[in-house]
Amino acid sequence: MIIAKTIEEARKHVWEWKAREYSIGLCPTMGYLHEGHLSLMQASKRDNDITVASVFVNPMQFGPTEDLAKYPRDFERDCRMLEAEGVDMVFAPEPSEMYLDDFCTFVDMTLVSEGLCGRSRPVMFRGVCTVLTKLINIIYPNRMYMGKKDCQQLAVVRRMVRDLNFNVEVVGCATVREEDGLAKSSRNTYLSEAERLASRVLSRTLRAAQEKIAAGQTDAEELIAFMRSELAKEPMADIDYVEIVDGLTMQPIPAVREGDVVAMAVRIGTTRLIDNFIAGDPLIDIAG
Ligand code: AMP
Repeated sequence: MIIAKTIEEARKHVWEWKAREYSIGLCPTMGYLHEGHLSLMQASKRDNDITVASVFVNPMQFGPTEDLAKYPRDFERDCRMLEAEGVDMVFAPEPSEMYLDDFCTFVDMTLVSEGLCGRSRPVMFRGVCTVLTKLINIIYPNRMYMGKKDCQQLAVVRRMVRDLNFNVEVVGCATVREEDGLAKSSRNTYLSEAERLASRVLSRTLRAAQEKIAAGQTDAEELIAFMRSELAKEPMADIDYVEIVDGLTMQPIPAVREGDVVAMAVRIGTTRLIDNFIAGDPLIDIAG
């Protein structure tokens, strides 16, 4: 596996692959990998000749009071996991390689990025759009693989690719969960044992909402009130948002239709967890 730390080195390999007309899949990550990330690599390996993973904790998408400094990192472990998956190249630049001192260009978005996580994390999607624009311009992927766990990020990136005519197909990959239903996340390592148990309330509540929808309930306001009351049963859970939105625009809708997204962000202690389901998707497995 090639480990490219500089843009120049990554591009050298990309040009060789392009000259041979190989298709390239890109899986952007912030590292501290888990099976959720690896499912993106596996999907890319199925679809493309070459799979590139990026490992970059992007400072631009963290607000001043967020967890940039303590975000978990273990690059050697990440490399072992990526190599075992058969990834061809990992691109892992330093922040100074990606952002020169006088960097002053940003990719910004309205509408899709404004609600949900954009409300409590106002700089995040500008950081995500800017770094992904750079990664697309460095790796020239045919396809880019992103998790449905970060449903707003996926919608934002799909919209950016459409609006700015990026020549890349965005592939959304299903959320990979722990046995008890908790969506896998690098941030789960912040949870104490008691918080880890309390965090089950997210997937349990989403699953209960899925069952209500399957039984014919569609009124968004009623479903949100139901989910809020379920979450309130867990004393450690502090709700950031519970919303039901259109899958493409991330705007609230009055009645759930297939493809709409039921999404939540909940603080368990100091750790902010997000989770969601898309109406019409299979029931979340919360056994265990
Ligand atoms: P991150 O390292 O958290 O920025 O995530 C990198 C990519 O992996 C994003 O596209 C995420 O949506 C995706 N991802 C993270 N966790 C999961 C999961 N549990 N299941 C599927 N994809 C995930």
